[in-house]
Amino acid sequence: MNKCIICDNQFQKLNEYVYKCNQCKFLMSDLKPGFGREIEGISEVRKNNFKRIIKKIKSLENKDIKILEIGSGNGFFIEECNIAHIDITGSEADADQLALLKKKYNKIIQLSLPFDVSVNDLNNTFDYIIFNDVFEHLESLELVLNQLKSILNDEGKIVLNLPSSDGLIFKISNLLRKIGITNFYDRLWQKGLSSPHLSYFNSDNLKKFVSKNGYEQIYASSLITVSRNKNFERLNSTIKNKFICHFLSFFLFLFYYFQKILPKDIIFHIYKKTNISSD
Ligand SMILES: [Zn+2]
Repeated sequence: MNKCIICDNQFQKLNEYVYKCNQCKFLMSDLKPGFGREIEGISEVRKNNFKRIIKKIKSLENKDIKILEIGSGNGFFIEECNIAHIDITGSEADADQLALLKKKYNKIIQLSLPFDVSVNDLNNTFDYIIFNDVFEHLESLELVLNQLKSILNDEGKIVLNLPSSDGLIFKISNLLRKIGITNFYDRLWQKGLSSPHLSYFNSDNLKKFVSKNGYEQIYASSLITVSRNKNFERLNSTIKNKFICHFLSFFLFLFYYFQKILPKDIIFHIYKKTNISSD
């Protein structure tokens, strides 16, 4: 890991596993990639965000569309698409997770990115490919973006929903890291979990990166991070002390009402395939 994949600038080592580009602020880790996700208690937030994403997609289209979700996990997004009568294909890289999804839903395929074999039967199939908290777990992102062009149709779009390094939660965790409290920062990278984050973008450097790889941004917004309730369970999965968890979940309750005016923690971008690469 030496050069920034966005601006070619030399990376600087931030801690034992994170590298930073001082030019565009892009962050990359050398944590070991893996499958699966294990965050509890965020179902309410995720479902509300999925509803927002679907509403936005519907507002952009006046025809029936086909969506592919990369890494469908527990299937929440598939469920929301089913409610909205959208043709959705779910996918998973991991065989066990795939088997679980297949029991619940009709259209599930095994797919890991970047593709190691060609997937000709999927060529020109999808109007949208969506990544819900998945993009930041992938290796070889330039290759991934290029490969997706073949399975997107001519007007095809990608939707990225991922955490931001400009968000308040990230900034606070980074401050704590600097004074020696590293567990919140490590948790944001999902260090030590089965599928840690390999990259951390902000809204600006993500736009630069995706645009550089043959896509044009057509929408940029953010999603909410904190729900009114169930914060205790989220915290308790990291911090075992119940008193501290109750104390912090009270602040998160307040934060829920303030987050509209604070730096946004979740990026929500939509890009259209252009076939033109600026390189
Ligand atoms: Zn950079």
